[in-house]
Amino acid sequence: MTRHAAHVLLLFLDGIGLGDDDPAINPFAAARTPALDTLAGGRRWLRAAPRHDNGRAVFIPTDPRLGVPGRPQSASGQATILTGLNVPAAIGEHYGPRPNPAIRTLVRADNLFLRVIQSGGSAALINGYPPRFHEAINSGKRLPSAYQEAVLGAGLPIFTEVEMYAETAMSSDWTGEGWRSELGYTDTPVYGRAEAGAHLARLVRQRDFTFFSHWMTDVVGHRGPLERGVALVELFDDVLAGLLDAWDDAHDLLVITSDHGNLEDVSVRQHTRNDVPTVAVGAARHSFAAGLRDLTGIAPGILRVLGLDERESSG
Ligand SMILES: [Zn+2]
Repeated sequence: MTRHAAHVLLLFLDGIGLGDDDPAINPFAAARTPALDTLAGGRRWLRAAPRHDNGRAVFIPTDPRLGVPGRPQSASGQATILTGLNVPAAIGEHYGPRPNPAIRTLVRADNLFLRVIQSGGSAALINGYPPRFHEAINSGKRLPSAYQEAVLGAGLPIFTEVEMYAETAMSSDWTGEGWRSELGYTDTPVYGRAEAGAHLARLVRQRDFTFFSHWMTDVVGHRGPLERGVALVELFDDVLAGLLDAWDDAHDLLVITSDHGNLEDVSVRQHTRNDVPTVAVGAARHSFAAGLRDLTGIAPGILRVLGLDERESSG
């Protein structure tokens, strides 16, 4: 059993796919994205970008459709990412945004957080959530997402404002500005863009497996307008630049992926059937990416990198 990386960060961006080179409808075609372009071998994150290794990162167009008709959805896509199972095939449909009982059962039975914890490792979802989120979950008014279900199923906590103040959590909007402008806080931490990326790189070194979710991309994909999408993609690019500057390629693996397309076509309010981008950064990327072509390859790749792959350990 070989371990290829000390720490793994799974950076999950909800609803980003590889779309047309059309700046009128696709924020990824319109935005200024030097960091993203570098990771894709000097190309924009578009349909035409092929699988490519730039010596530091591998860019992999990834199939979220999984042979199941219909538009890929969040709960079944996230559950696939976290379990390695073809969840849409198992339940007979793409389903979302929140998990149904069948998806909850699959996610609770086995997921990345659970595997790491059961092997004696450490794992966390590092998003911080405000009190009103926890109240809605605890009262049953709001169902946890598939990845929150995975965290709860592994017996791990969902972070609160306490971790935000302690700077051991990340804000879903990267910088933390939303805690002030949307949630009414006056003294929670706010980071510059590159600083937010560096903060994220620091948090990753606190445990074996770290998951962070940025979900606004799916919201803007549904609602538009294009300008908001462009602003969001440029924000991500700036954060990513800071993250990559602080990243320890020799020891750590960064994985970026998504559950389904959406933001790359703001002319339709629904999800798309496009491939999604998967990017892996660091020396362990080859071990992670071997054979990866659809969303079922993410979890096994991460387990392999952490030395938790069953086939390797039994051989
Ligand atoms: Zn959506």
